[in-house]
Amino acid sequence: VSTAPSPVPEAPPDYAPAVPDMDAGPARSHLFYQSRHRRPLLDRAKGVHMWDVAGKRYLDGSSGAMVSNIGHSDPVVLEAMRAQMEKSTFGYRLHFENAPAEHLARLVAELSPEGMDRVFFVSGGSEAVESCLKLARQYALAIGEATRFKVISRYPSYHGATLGALALTGYTTMTAPFAPMMHEMPKIPAPTCYLDRDGLTMEERGRRYADMLEAEILRQGPETVLAFIMEPVGGASTGALVAPDSYYPRIREICDYYGVLLIHDEVMTGAGRTGRFLASEHWDLKPDLMALSKGFAAGYAPLGAMVASDKMVEAVMEHGGFIHGYTYAGNPLACAAGLAVLRETVRRDLPGNAAHIGDLLKARLEGLKERFAFIGDVRGKGLLLAVELVADRDTMDPLPPENMAAARLVDLAYDRGLIIYWRRTRGGYVGDHVMVCPPLILTEPEIEEIMGPLEESLAVLERELGFAGGG
Ligand code: PMP
Repeated sequence: VSTAPSPVPEAPPDYAPAVPDMDAGPARSHLFYQSRHRRPLLDRAKGVHMWDVAGKRYLDGSSGAMVSNIGHSDPVVLEAMRAQMEKSTFGYRLHFENAPAEHLARLVAELSPEGMDRVFFVSGGSEAVESCLKLARQYALAIGEATRFKVISRYPSYHGATLGALALTGYTTMTAPFAPMMHEMPKIPAPTCYLDRDGLTMEERGRRYADMLEAEILRQGPETVLAFIMEPVGGASTGALVAPDSYYPRIREICDYYGVLLIHDEVMTGAGRTGRFLASEHWDLKPDLMALSKGFAAGYAPLGAMVASDKMVEAVMEHGGFIHGYTYAGNPLACAAGLAVLRETVRRDLPGNAAHIGDLLKARLEGLKERFAFIGDVRGKGLLLAVELVADRDTMDPLPPENMAAARLVDLAYDRGLIIYWRRTRGGYVGDHVMVCPPLILTEPEIEEIMGPLEESLAVLERELGFAGGG
């Protein structure tokens, strides 16, 4: 009888997990997002265009979710990423610092308002907002104001999907299921002045909305209020809402008076989208804290940042340091991508192009009002533009929610090779709008690639909605 150990049997052929033939197209996808709604597989993208695997070409008229500011597959950014990849793609920040992060932080500080020169890297917009909340709170503790913890935000608004940022988000569809799991934060109405029928001038309305912040601070008790957060120009939640000029300085004044920190969520507006590097530059504003992401690395890497003043950061450092951080913070590859994106943004004056092309595009969108009675408003700054659809332009009455008009318009445009972005906000204010926010590199002739499919789609929607039909 042999005592030799029997050989380890070979794994049967079906032992190894089967590698699916992706080219055949999976019969059932294991991936999931928000809903069952599926889109074609992306093949490649270049500049303002994208192609699916069937070869259909799309114009990226929303820069994804207002992300791809410098367009797709930019050769300078790709080269910078390739060069960084050859060196290192990860070094944990407690073991190594890295040059791309250091250089990017310096550039961000240079592009930020005077005195805002400390930068904390994260992987996206929600994380940037969470970081602002935590630094604000730790700063209050450091200066002996421990009673301050409430963060006032606006309704509607969007500040992120993680529970801290979600508590600031004014968008009930997204927040309602999680309400018991969050600390409820006070909200004031977003300055939807264009909807008001009160005989006031826009500037008077702007001031009235800003004064609501003071009323809310007093209602909550100023000693409990830590910060106020807003998107200087609204994102998808309000459809590129711009407040009257009177709003902004009054908000700053109120925050200063009550010792409330002002947080600008520039996740969507930053990095040139509104025609200046930061939206706050339009009003010469200086927040206390700022959140950046999206166009910041323009989709080349998941990256975001919090920008803060030296004074706040040093106060927190003196009291034991910032109790916060993410594994991927300051990732060298992401920072190399962000650095190349921002350098190109500055070198090619993409904010300037956004301002110029944005004006031309906005005028063309305005022109659609003549033909389509259900376009209620066209608004925004630079290439952060939105078109609002209504039942009646005079009253600004919304379309019936069951029509899902904005979503339908997005689908009609998608079929015609134009990507735009929609949102229907419920509660407080109800409206249908689509965001028209192409990459900041868009050229004048490319405006036609937006207008053609958009007009065709609006004409179909007009018939579907049963409007008599304009010109
Ligand atoms: N703030 C604003 C203003 C945003 O537009 C977004 C994203 N739409 C976020 C925060 C959250 O960013 P992210 O999805 O990258 O977490």
